[in-house]
Amino acid sequence: MILLHPNKHDRNYPDERSREVMLKTISFFERRGKRKLKEDDHAALWYDDFLAFVREERIFATMCTPSGYGAADARWDTWRICEFAEILGFYGLQYWYTWQVSVLGLGPIWMSDNEALKRKTGRLLEEGAIFAFGLSEKEHGADLYSTEMTLEAAPGGGFVANGRKYYIGNGNLAALVSTFGKIAGTGEYCFFAAESQHPSYRCVQNVVHSQNFVSEYELCDYPVREEDILSRGDEAWNAALNTVNIGKFNLGWASIGICTHALYEAIHHAAHRKLYGMHVTDFSHAKALFTDAYARLVAMKLVALRAADYMRSASAEDRRYLLYNPVVKMKVTTQGEDVINHLWDVIAAKGFEKDTYFEMAARDIRGLPKLEGTVHVNIALIVKFMANYFFQPTELPEVPRRDDARNDDFLFHQGATRGLGRIRFHDFEKVFARFDLPNVRLFCEQIDALKQLLTHATPDQAQTRDIDFLLAVGELFTLVVYAQLLLENAEIYELDRGLVDQIFDVLVRDFSRFAVQLHGKPSTSAAQADHCLKMIRRPAADAARSERIWLEHVYALRDAYTMNP
Ligand SMILES: Cc1cc2nc3c(=O)[nH]c(=O)nc-3n(C[C@H](O)[C@H](O)[C@H](O)COP(=O)(O)OP(=O)(O)OC[C@H]3O[C@@H](n4cnc5c(N)ncnc54)[C@H](O)[C@@H]3O)c2cc1C
Repeated sequence: MILLHPNKHDRNYPDERSREVMLKTISFFERRGKRKLKEDDHAALWYDDFLAFVREERIFATMCTPSGYGAADARWDTWRICEFAEILGFYGLQYWYTWQVSVLGLGPIWMSDNEALKRKTGRLLEEGAIFAFGLSEKEHGADLYSTEMTLEAAPGGGFVANGRKYYIGNGNLAALVSTFGKIAGTGEYCFFAAESQHPSYRCVQNVVHSQNFVSEYELCDYPVREEDILSRGDEAWNAALNTVNIGKFNLGWASIGICTHALYEAIHHAAHRKLYGMHVTDFSHAKALFTDAYARLVAMKLVALRAADYMRSASAEDRRYLLYNPVVKMKVTTQGEDVINHLWDVIAAKGFEKDTYFEMAARDIRGLPKLEGTVHVNIALIVKFMANYFFQPTELPEVPRRDDARNDDFLFHQGATRGLGRIRFHDFEKVFARFDLPNVRLFCEQIDALKQLLTHATPDQAQTRDIDFLLAVGELFTLVVYAQLLLENAEIYELDRGLVDQIFDVLVRDFSRFAVQLHGKPSTSAAQADHCLKMIRRPAADAARSERIWLEHVYALRDAYTMNP
């Protein structure tokens, strides 16, 4: 079974501790139960009990300490991180968030050469500490160039820092807050570790009403000693972007966890609700919506798992992950919104009820495409790879499934963030050719039509500066990369070929929709608009296939799981 099932945990792990972390986390939430989950959510209660569990069971110590800085079971292992993030999302985005911002806070620390601080961080993780990532500021969002947090040289050596940060998760209690600033006079970037409990650190407010503490904090003449400095100059800049590279991948997994729980809840409700003498799941439109939701969710999971293989295999020579990673961030999270929309269309009023998981899912799924780089920022990044991806394929090592017990060393040594346009990719068309399925063939025709547009009606200079136009092209390109990753994993996981065809039924429709969007853009030329129309395809319907997928994969989930009350 490809979807997470809390009561049937059968994922492959090379060591017992990894499985133990997952099972203990599941058991914590199930024992605590759904009523408490929802009460705490409504009361916007800080999750002390969850963090006590994390401390007692050394969960973050195992999961977030790279090899060599902690106990024998500690390593940074994206294979197990994927499922951990999925489980947290499954039980509530708030629990995922306190872990996620700890991951972000740890990024600049593990990337730094400050060995003493790294050793200290390893000890703090063992003690159950949480961390924070102080990048954003109130006035200029993700625009790092405009950072106003300032470090001035102190008379006796070191610096004093002054300034405010905004939207910083865990800023109330984090043992260390990795804070990004500029050195006065030179404008040199600097990352340093501040302590949230220091007298010169002022936690101003929680800017959201939620269980999370998304802080505004102020440093008032905060003393930054040499030993608090993590990185300076280009290294500090790279640490900011490379940390986001690692962290933003986890947003896809939060979406997958949220959608999985919401699907179990929604189909259970619909299958047992009778209207006009029939069950809601007997309506043809309800079946179609559930089948689309399921197809999208399976695709989300396979794509994110495959991208993790490339992250774990990345090196200075193989940086394909820099495309696949923003695809997970942008596409998996927006697909998550589609899944919740489909489910909500069926369960309607039920989705508003205070006792449902769905009520949280419907709210929280919206955040993931917007945070840690919006959809726009990620598509703008993704299109930088398009020319090489389509027109300059090269031979590169095949990447297997990476479920081995290895520390992902390279993630903390990613190096300079430049040179994206020079990254090369393997020939994506080969995997499509291995799937002789009606909807995969249609999708290949759509790709060909897109390539025709790019070669025969190539976007001009003005269009390549027009973000509105680029975003529309980027949606089409992203879908191709998404489908490639999906097919690669459909092979590795030996996915039912009928289900692959069903997923491509969805993707063919999505491709047509994005083609129509590009067709309608004001700066699309007449020739380009013609090419867009040639991308439109009708999926190959197959009633027997759809009915089988419905019965064997989707409807089969109706009584599969309900959370312990
Ligand atoms: C609940 C929550 C938790 C958060 N946690 C943290 C945290 O722990 N640490 C932290 O540092 N930050 C955190 N953030 C900040 C978050 O990462 C930013 O809000 C996010 O990156 C987007 O920035 P913004 O909302 O300020 O948008 P803005 O930067 O104001 O952008 C405005 C618009 O311009 C577009 N845009 C901006 N730049 C580009 C570009 N280059 N190309 C194309 N379009 C562009 C955006 O897509 C957006 O539509 C958090 C925010 C929230 C709401």
